[in-house]
Amino acid sequence: MKEALSFHDVLLVPKYSDIASRSKIDIGNHLGKNINLALPVISSPMDTITELEMAKCLHYHGGLGIVHRYNTIAEQAAIIKSFNLGCARGNIGAAVGVTGDFEERACAAVDAGANIICIDVAHGHHSSVKVALETLRGVFGGDIHIMAGNVATLEGFNELADWGADSIRVGIGGGSICSTRVQTGHGIPTFQSILECSRSSRDAKIIADGGIRSNGDIVKALAAGADFVMLGSMLAGTTESPGEIFHSKNKKYKVYRGMASKAAQDDWRGKSSAPEGISTTIPFKGAVENILDNMIGNLQSGFSYSGATCIEELWIKAEFIKQTSAGQVESSTHIIRGS
Ligand code: IMP
Repeated sequence: MKEALSFHDVLLVPKYSDIASRSKIDIGNHLGKNINLALPVISSPMDTITELEMAKCLHYHGGLGIVHRYNTIAEQAAIIKSFNLGCARGNIGAAVGVTGDFEERACAAVDAGANIICIDVAHGHHSSVKVALETLRGVFGGDIHIMAGNVATLEGFNELADWGADSIRVGIGGGSICSTRVQTGHGIPTFQSILECSRSSRDAKIIADGGIRSNGDIVKALAAGADFVMLGSMLAGTTESPGEIFHSKNKKYKVYRGMASKAAQDDWRGKSSAPEGISTTIPFKGAVENILDNMIGNLQSGFSYSGATCIEELWIKAEFIKQTSAGQVESSTHIIRGS
């Protein structure tokens, strides 16, 4: 049986560096079709993560927001239009499904100014994604970047690339709010999936998605071969995440929920069945700007520890070691407080 490693199982070996300053490090990457991102971070198309404010803030920091699809076509298009009035036609993505009005939704989003369409389903290595990719490619030709997913295997990655995806979300079952592995027994640790998909000979970009808990995990995902990371929980509970702040015992909270949770299904479909996610409350974190500023600094520092000035150098120089459970304890803060 194959062994599958997760982010916490591994560390990057610090390497010789002659990089004078963090500011000399370019953490950006090229998504394709004239889309360059200074910050290789994409916010997840979830109804508690990405609407207008999150997309704007990601854009200002060099990243990308994908507006979720749990709204009417008109509502999604209105968010994209507002974004483009504020951000002078910046990069913004729109999520679509694979059934019903997905083609109409994609066309409305593109008309409103989206330059990335994300085919957003839980099990992306599926014939319905092939049909959706072929349909949207037929409509847009090569003009629009099409992201698809999610997949967990090299085979799945290659097939989606061959079906026409420009970038592919890699990771099944790793999300912080995900219960797919518990409810269905399926999944692969996201770190392992990235390692496998990085062996692909296809040009499609790898977007590591699900289970990224820290800036260190982002560096590990990129070093393992990802081009970008997609984040949910790290951006959740902020001023810019959709949803109200509520108070409990003088503390502020916001909701973060999986799109296959009972609560999300009830809201968007009016019923639910076989949930594969949870809904939870998390302490309010304030402006996402602070999280992104720290992220940029930590990512530059992370590249520097591997002696890399850019992502291509990181892929060449990065060397992983597997750590023991004692190493995992030592790797997180573990101060002994006097009694
Ligand atoms: P996080 O960054 O670990 O919070 O994971 C976010 C990712 O979890 C998303 O980008 C999706 O790929 C995935 N996801 C979102 N909702 C659900 C769900 O209800 N069940 C399983 N996975 C989900």
